Amino acid sequence: MAKSKQKGSIVEKETTPEEEIIFTSLRVSEWRDFVGQESVKKSIQIAINAAQKRNEALEHILLYGPPGLGKTTLSHLIAKEMGSNIRVTSGPAIERAGDLASILTNLESGDVLFIDEIHRLNKVVEETLYPAMEEYALDIVLGKGPSARTVRLDLPRFTIVGATTRAGMLSGPLRDRFGVVHRMVFYNPSDLEEIIVKAAKKLKVKIDKKSISEIAKRARGTPRIALRLLKRARDYAQVHGKGEITLDLVEKALGLIEVDSRGLDALDKRYLKSIIEKHGGGPVGVETIAASLAEDVGTIEEIVEPYLLQIGFLKRTKSGRVATGEAYKHLGSRLSKKQNQQNLL
Ligand code: ADP
Repeated sequence: MAKSKQKGSIVEKETTPEEEIIFTSLRVSEWRDFVGQESVKKSIQIAINAAQKRNEALEHILLYGPPGLGKTTLSHLIAKEMGSNIRVTSGPAIERAGDLASILTNLESGDVLFIDEIHRLNKVVEETLYPAMEEYALDIVLGKGPSARTVRLDLPRFTIVGATTRAGMLSGPLRDRFGVVHRMVFYNPSDLEEIIVKAAKKLKVKIDKKSISEIAKRARGTPRIALRLLKRARDYAQVHGKGEITLDLVEKALGLIEVDSRGLDALDKRYLKSIIEKHGGGPVGVETIAASLAEDVGTIEEIVEPYLLQIGFLKRTKSGRVATGEAYKHLGSRLSKKQNQQNLL
């Protein structure tokens, strides 16, 4: 439900088939091309080297953070570095313990199993996963009722790379079974510029410096959005320009899809306006805001809020969300008396 409402938003997680082709062609396949996230990269590389020296499987790795920051890409790089195969699945795709059993028994020693949206695994599957992660064993129940018995199957030594946008929704026991846990952070503009330059080269499109920094500025610290905006600008330049991407064309192309100078899109603005205009600037609970926007809370918490918090447009307090003076300034709203006092605190 939330997904369909998100459609058309620049931050949406789902990609169109057309975008998929572009993203696949731009997929980073070498460590040196994976820009930024230095501390995550360094620590994963140490874990890989240690596992290779000991001739053991790599520890299970959990990556969490907003969509589009490179979790899937990193998992492919990890498998490549380990010289092993990768199997990709997701929490909601593994419906029954039997589905998990068939995936796990088909793995080979050293393989990487990437589970996207791992917070959406159901309880039974999750519990089947515990001994698989810890002891490389699978307990299978044969038969029903009093004659049911459990048989233990040995599994090859594999590595799970779990990805989630909602670390808070992961159960404690599952989280504890990951040897390495990393939070992916938003990228700074210079990293995004590097990603855009490399992508433009691969797409064989000419782009000037100002356009590169404008796209980076509007990309919400997220490589997937940077690539999406670059693609929009390229399409616009092909139709309305001479093929080369210039600042003027970027501004027009991004204006058409309502992505403003700070990377805010229509949903972000509706969200901030709801706090400011309907709730006096806050504090207001996220459920109330979500209801007034007819969006689900997950979409708001996962996709809208992280970036607004990051750029200081939003504060999370015990009594609810509060729009900051920066948000008022950006939207051109005048601060109410109450809000002014809050921001001075
Ligand atoms: P996530 O799994 O976190 O949602 P993805 O790994 O699917 O994100 O990344 C989305 C897109 O952004 C991919 O096309 C990927 O190649 C690109 N990308 C992500 N992180 C980086 C990075 N650090 N350097 C270069 N490109 C990146």
